[in-house]
Amino acid sequence: MQIIHADIVFSQDREHLAVHPDSYIAVEKGIVTGIWPVLPEEYKNVPVADYGDGVLIPAFSDLHVHAPQYLNRGLEMDLLLSDWLDKCTFPMEARFADTEFAKLVYDAFVDDMLANGTMHACVYGTIHSEATAYLLERMDRKGIKGFVGKINMDCCELEDLREDVAKSISETEAFLERYSGNKNTKPILTPRFAPSCTRELIKGLGKLGKKYNIGMQTHLVESLWEAEQAKVLFPECSCDTEIYERAGLMDNGPVIGGHFIFPSEEDIRIMQKYDSYAVQCPDATISVIAGIMQTGALLDKGMKIVLGSDISAGHHIGVYTQAACSVQLSKLKHFYEPEGNRKITFPEAFWMATKQSGKLFGGTGSLEPGSVFDALVIEGLSDAARKLTPEQALERFCYIGTKENIKARYLNGEVLNE
Ligand SMILES: [Zn+2]
Repeated sequence: MQIIHADIVFSQDREHLAVHPDSYIAVEKGIVTGIWPVLPEEYKNVPVADYGDGVLIPAFSDLHVHAPQYLNRGLEMDLLLSDWLDKCTFPMEARFADTEFAKLVYDAFVDDMLANGTMHACVYGTIHSEATAYLLERMDRKGIKGFVGKINMDCCELEDLREDVAKSISETEAFLERYSGNKNTKPILTPRFAPSCTRELIKGLGKLGKKYNIGMQTHLVESLWEAEQAKVLFPECSCDTEIYERAGLMDNGPVIGGHFIFPSEEDIRIMQKYDSYAVQCPDATISVIAGIMQTGALLDKGMKIVLGSDISAGHHIGVYTQAACSVQLSKLKHFYEPEGNRKITFPEAFWMATKQSGKLFGGTGSLEPGSVFDALVIEGLSDAARKLTPEQALERFCYIGTKENIKARYLNGEVLNE
């Protein structure tokens, strides 16, 4: 049994924060058992971890991030998507044939993710099985709940990243066999995006999905080019998402579609049919993609919208910054295209980054009783001349906070030591 004292804030529901100032939270075997303004008599003898006016919040979830692009963050951000892929991203990913190089990068990536309060994540590796296996094992050992995918792509200008279909399928199957029984970090199918895969490869992945009951992450209607190209290459499909539905990839496990900026009604219908997640990656949208998700409209349709850092199209690994940026982008979308688009609120953005996405990882992302206790204590956000309320401190953290504002991190109820 652990008792922690702090100001406590988490998402009550999509529109509201639950705020418990100056309160006590009890955690038993990694699960929250209660929150009280006054410590109940029966717990009077339990030592209290007292964070004073620190704010206890749930840890964040990153549902779209490319670990091998970690060294590229904040670089070549003046390029647009296709040039950025060719000049910046693909040459870097080709280097992950060297597993020793990959280990250096992945160690730093995982440490930085945890330092920034992300404890659950859907991560892309590269086409290289050995390097991607190292990434998955590293995350699993740290206790990070998540999914890691070996990328599949057999259409790529760069020969080093162009896979042979049979080899791509057999290596992916070996990867699934090896890790599908994992407790924390599990494998997930990861066709990069439709124009990077032949029909044969996507069909093969569909069979693996069925055989191993494994879900999928990919990029969906990320750009107008991708949405159009998908229909040119797969003319039997009316939209990007239908390619995966026809291949039997939508109903084996969770489906996580990155970006979802230019969906047709059919894309939306299929995603909702399978209760799939669409991931907004705000920094990436601003820097290389140049399109804005209809976040408010999609939320109002009941779609599962969550957030991702999309390192390195996005430049900041902290998902808290993406919650702030999501609010900003919704205002721009509303300003330039008022018809059907509304601005979203900060509680909605925080909910997407925590409670909504935490459901994917088995009851994390909240601090209500019954939740897995993955949590952060943030501090140092008030001014000498203005003391913030707990919910104001949370909002400011998302706008101007850094990992230095995170005083403590709890993962599965245990304190993480730096
Ligand atoms: Zn991406």
